[in-house]
Amino acid sequence: GSWADQAGGVFLTVPARVSGMGVVEADEEALARLCAPGSAARDALCNGLKEVREEYGGCNVDETNLLPMGTVLSQRLEKGLRSLLKADAVIILAGAGMSVSSGIPDLGDFATQFPELVQRGRKNIFQCSSHEHFTSDPASAWGFFQERALGYWGAEPSADYCWLLKVVDSRPYFVVTSNLDGMFTRAGFAPDRLAEIHGTLLDVQCCSPNCGGVRRETLNFFEDLPICPNRRVVTPAERVPTCSRCGSPERIATELAVDGYFQDDHVLEGRRRWEHFQHTVPEGAKLCILELGCGIQMPKLRFLGESVSNIHRLRAAHSTAPDEMAPVTYMRINTHHYDMINHPDNIPLPLPVSEVFQAWSCLS
Ligand SMILES: [Zn+2]
Repeated sequence: GSWADQAGGVFLTVPARVSGMGVVEADEEALARLCAPGSAARDALCNGLKEVREEYGGCNVDETNLLPMGTVLSQRLEKGLRSLLKADAVIILAGAGMSVSSGIPDLGDFATQFPELVQRGRKNIFQCSSHEHFTSDPASAWGFFQERALGYWGAEPSADYCWLLKVVDSRPYFVVTSNLDGMFTRAGFAPDRLAEIHGTLLDVQCCSPNCGGVRRETLNFFEDLPICPNRRVVTPAERVPTCSRCGSPERIATELAVDGYFQDDHVLEGRRRWEHFQHTVPEGAKLCILELGCGIQMPKLRFLGESVSNIHRLRAAHSTAPDEMAPVTYMRINTHHYDMINHPDNIPLPLPVSEVFQAWSCLS
């Protein structure tokens, strides 16, 4: 009945020497000594637990089973890798954290990074992507997106993408990503096994409703835009892209801003590919869901992973043939907000994607 029971467990972390690949390579022996029976640190932990119990009532805590975080992580990494390698099909859900190692960092604090946009009344990336921005101030909107497109396409897919493709390529897999950087295609993942749910930065549409569809541009399109570098605006302003059919301003066809003007043909095609993939996964197939660097700001991919795992587990519960291997292993790899619904086959890995992949490539 206590908060700790409801949470399904509590992690107590202790400082440790961290080296090399980070926590994965933490000094296991030192950590084990730290938590050994009779050690001062262990006594402190147990006293802490006692206080928690006294304050909050009977927590279900077992002092004999204190594991150093490094050991917990090692066990999770090993179980996760086994499931990934043995799965009949792999579902990859990728957010911004997947591309960090390719040199595409989180935008960070918008006001510090883009003071000239704040001066023009844009406070975040959603406002920058809006229909209103492209129609009322297209020189600034295209200035912002030219910089993004050149930066994203100037970056190459990291070793993480190559390793992942090598691991999944011989089996059915599908990638659903919210990233706009086109990295999966550029890394060699099959276009028919990919859904880019927000489109990419190269997708362009007319701002007028129902005037044609979405086309995928090349990087030349962005390189040819004349930008005043210090101000991040198209100069002269009449050089902003306009529709060849009706002359209206054009815009990036991404769904970052939900404003009712977004043409979603390309996104719907991706969704159809995803639906088709789900129908091709045979009943009883063992799934591995890899959620990679998906934050909580736009939690669509988290919801997707949770719903797919729930449905597949429910189906498996009704099947008559019990199996040693779990029907779904669901891994969440993210440096923050990594908590998952408590389930033996949900594996939260509170690490950067590249550290997990490096550890796995050493283990496999
Ligand atoms: Zn048009």
